[in-house]
Amino acid sequence: ADAAMYASKKAGRNRYTYYDGIPKLDSDRYYQLARQLPAAIAQEQLVLHFQPKVRLEDCRIVGLEALVRWQHPQYGLIYPGDFIALAEEHGHIEALGDWVMQACCRQIAAWRMQGLDTVPVAFNVSPLQLKDSAFPSRMATYLKHYGVRASDIQVEITESCLVEPVGLAARVLHQLQQMGVSIGLDDFGTGFSSLSQIRALPINTIKLDKSFVNELRSSKEAGVLVTSIITLAHNLKMQVVAEGVELMDQLVYLKTAGCDVAQGYFLSRPVPLAQTEALLKQGILEPA
Ligand code: C2E
Ligand code: MG
Ligand code: MG
Ligand code: MG
Repeated sequence: ADAAMYASKKAGRNRYTYYDGIPKLDSDRYYQLARQLPAAIAQEQLVLHFQPKVRLEDCRIVGLEALVRWQHPQYGLIYPGDFIALAEEHGHIEALGDWVMQACCRQIAAWRMQGLDTVPVAFNVSPLQLKDSAFPSRMATYLKHYGVRASDIQVEITESCLVEPVGLAARVLHQLQQMGVSIGLDDFGTGFSSLSQIRALPINTIKLDKSFVNELRSSKEAGVLVTSIITLAHNLKMQVVAEGVELMDQLVYLKTAGCDVAQGYFLSRPVPLAQTEALLKQGILEPA
């Protein structure tokens, strides 16, 4: 586990090096960001971008996924791939996750005030957050404070939330479900769980990982796999969202295979607030 953590840290740093071409700053930058993150959260340097989820039947926008970015005063927009792991390793993920949860509720309330027709907003949670038994009550507090319904919120978890012992995470998930918050299983297919293993958990939606979508073009087997996952998920009363749709033929394949909802650059990239509002007004997203 230590080796894996080190490897991911290292990959994160290398990415920085690659982007800014200043190898010297490498690990300095990592620790600098780790040190700065708590104040950045408090000073609202985090921002949400939103990516629409589109129903394949009629191209309606039926949801949004909130994706966090760090508007760094010195380094510009930093993507979650470069600070989520760091937040987890340095004990800041709870504060970060809490900010995201609150910002989603606040945003939904603001859209309502503007008279916009809103759609459910999903946010991503780290496995560490699901181990916190106070998570559901904080969610409830924000919902109440902002006057937002639980059905306006979806939580996206990953299979790594479900590694043994599943007990604690399962309890949190059941509490969220009881409140009416729906649960999506992100990046499905990349981990080790099968649909039969997760059927006991309160999961409403599975999100087919983009690696499957990506392979649809080159591999017949990927298509067979995707089709059977969709069928099985439907039999278990789960909805299927495909992520990472970049091409028209992927969209067509998924629609034919009975997939419910799609997300991806082909439909829309994650966009900042103003563009999100324009998308909500539009309501429908015809592929380009
Ligand atoms: P994810 O939840 O699986 O989100 C999908 C990621 O794929 C996003 O990257 C999105 O911009 C990107 N994406 C969307 N459509 C396409 C496509 O068609 N092609 C390709 N190649 N990529 C696409 P992003 O925003 O950089 O986020 C990366 C990951 O960071 C997320 O993966 C999620 O696991 C994590 N993350 C984002 N926001 C939060 C957050 O608020 N809290 C936590 N704990 N994690 C977050
Ligand atoms: Mg997600
Ligand atoms: Mg995903
Ligand atoms: Mg993913």
